Amino acid sequence: MLTAEQTPSLAPLQRLVDSWIMATGKGYFSPLTNMAILAEETGEVARIMARLHGDQVAKPSDTAVSLADELVDVIWVATAIANQEGIDLTEALRKNFDKKSSRDADRFGPTAQQNTETLTPKNL
Ligand SMILES: [Mg+2]
Repeated sequence: MLTAEQTPSLAPLQRLVDSWIMATGKGYFSPLTNMAILAEETGEVARIMARLHGDQVAKPSDTAVSLADELVDVIWVATAIANQEGIDLTEALRKNFDKKSSRDADRFGPTAQQNTETLTPKNL
């Protein structure tokens, strides 16, 4: 479990994104527009991963994009959504680590293979 002191603060990121949106962007897009942008940016990450590790061959135009840059686009718009929804990402991060730590405490040990053997399409 993460304590508040162990949790890295995302407040500076939230403030930075907010400042940029208010000063340069002239205000937030609507929440639904930001949701669409989040889907778009996630798709851009998926496209790069498909070219890097999937079965598709990259086109010459694919070399102009950066996985790092697209991942930051996802983080950026997710942060904008958090800001406009009044979400404290630092606290959300701490709670998320707690959730994963208790849920997955025994998930990846020697019994993990046994667990997957019991999965069927109906209980996935
Ligand atoms: Mg992008």
